[in-house]
Order: sequence, then structure tokens, then C-alpha cells
Amino acid sequence: IYKVYSEELYRGKEKYGIILVHRNITREYEVNQMKSEFVSTVSHELRTPLASIFGFTELLLHRDLKPERQKKYVKTIYKETQRLTSLINDFLDVQKMESGKQNYEKRYFDVLPLIEKIISLQRVNAPSHRIALESQDGEGIIYGDKRKLEQAFSNIISNAIKYSPGGGQIDLNAKRDGDKLVVSIKDEGLGIPEESIDRLFNKFYRVDNSDRRKIGGTGLGLSIVQEIVKAHYGEVTVESQYRKGSTFTVSLPSVPGHETVREEGTGQG
Ligand code: ADP
Repeated sequence: IYKVYSEELYRGKEKYGIILVHRNITREYEVNQMKSEFVSTVSHELRTPLASIFGFTELLLHRDLKPERQKKYVKTIYKETQRLTSLINDFLDVQKMESGKQNYEKRYFDVLPLIEKIISLQRVNAPSHRIALESQDGEGIIYGDKRKLEQAFSNIISNAIKYSPGGGQIDLNAKRDGDKLVVSIKDEGLGIPEESIDRLFNKFYRVDNSDRRKIGGTGLGLSIVQEIVKAHYGEVTVESQYRKGSTFTVSLPSVPGHETVREEGTGQG
């Protein structure tokens, strides 16, 4: 996209020339478009939980409700508050990443118990899904930021749940492949149309298909995943069949168990 500026040149009353400046404003245009997308996503995503919090607090304040009902409403308010917090954290994270201010505190740790923990936390939101992890003990040791990787795996696993609204199987597999730890997360959900795959990890990108229009989101989750995985010198990829399911694969440089022990100075030799 180009913007053209023109300026006519006169000597007295006589026109002797014209200056034309073509400026490429494609980037500006894209940035503006992203900004307006951002504003509409943010306002929509913030308004939904806020409306629900507002509505339920009003009920609690002005109605005489049975204790069970009160408790149910407070639970909803609690959940919506959590949602708001995680939304705002996502926005802040993206901003930090953009400005290069994201700090990673890396050390050696085993990813497998972390993934198990995420699964048991997420099971609460997934009563109609079966979530299973296949792995081998001692294979999950890597050098990384535990909190950040928890965020990355949580995003992928919660997407697997969120985008398989009919329930189904979610299979996680963690195995070592050479000097890498490869974790795959496979679901039987809505899948991803082929033309969306290239943009899937872009900031604010959401698949805009009727099958998922009612599912909320900001389009930030996967961009955060990619950023975190890259900061660990790893890679995240996706394979998907539309309407059949998706498999996200994260590979991270891994440290074989015995090397870690040596690193910590507790091994023999
Ligand atoms: P959000 O979920 O907030 O829209 P994400 O960045 O996490 O943002 O995901 C981007 C898009 O990728 C989503 O809008 C969704 O359509 C698609 N997507 C992500 N994970 C899956 C999945 N497991 N199955 C189907 N579609 C997915």
C-alpha cells in the first residue's frame, strides 16, 4: 500500500516541475489494523467476565438467596476473576516479550511432574475429556524456566480442551529423541483449517470459523507459547486435520538424567 504526496514547483508563475513522493505504508496499515483488532478483542474479552461479575454481585447484594445458590454465584465470580487475571497477564506478557524485558530463570528440572500437575489442574475444567500422559521416568530433565514452561504447556493443553467442545481423548506423549525432549499433545477436537496453520502462532490471530465463534479468546495463547519455547532454543509445531483433531509438538533441548546428576555434583564419575 502506497501513499502519494505531490508538490508542484513554481518559478514566479511558471510551473517547472512536480515532486512525487511514494511512501510505502503497508507496515503502518498492518500495525493500525492490528491495533484495532487488539482494541476490539480486549474490550470484548474484558467485558464478558466483567458483565458476569457485575450481574452476580448484584444478585448477591439485592436478593435473599439460599446459601447453596450464594456459594454457586461466588464460585462463578471467582472463576471470572481468574479469567480476567489471566487475560491481563497475557497482555502484559506480550508487551514484555515485545520490549525484550521478559526474564527467564533457568535451572535443571524434570518437566514430567510439571506436566502431570498441569493435567490434574486442567481435569477440573474437562469433565468430558479423557486426558492421558505416556512417558518414561527420568526422561524429562531440561534446563529451563519452570514457571514459563508451565504457562506454555498449560496454554496448549487448555486449547486442546477448549477446542474439543464435544469432549474426547487428549493424549500427551513425552519422549526423548536424541538430545531433545519431545512432548506431543493430541486432541480429537475441531481441528485447524489448512489455510490458518501459517498464521496460527501470530499475535491476536484467531481462526474465524463458525464452529468456534462462540469460544472466547484473544489469539495470544499460542504466540506466548512460541515465544517461551524459542527462549528455550526449542520448537513448537502443529499438525491438524480440520474437524478431526490437532497435534501440537514441543521439542526442547534436553539433558539426559545422568548428566544432570553429574552437573549437580552428586553422581559418580
Ligand atoms: P485463542 O485460543 O485465545 O483464540 P490461541 O493463540 O491460543 O488463541 O489460538 C489461536 C487459534 O488457534 C484459536 O483461535 C483456535 O481457533 C486455534 N487453535 C488453537 N489450539 C487449537 C486446538 N487444539 N484445536 C483447534 N484449534 C486450535
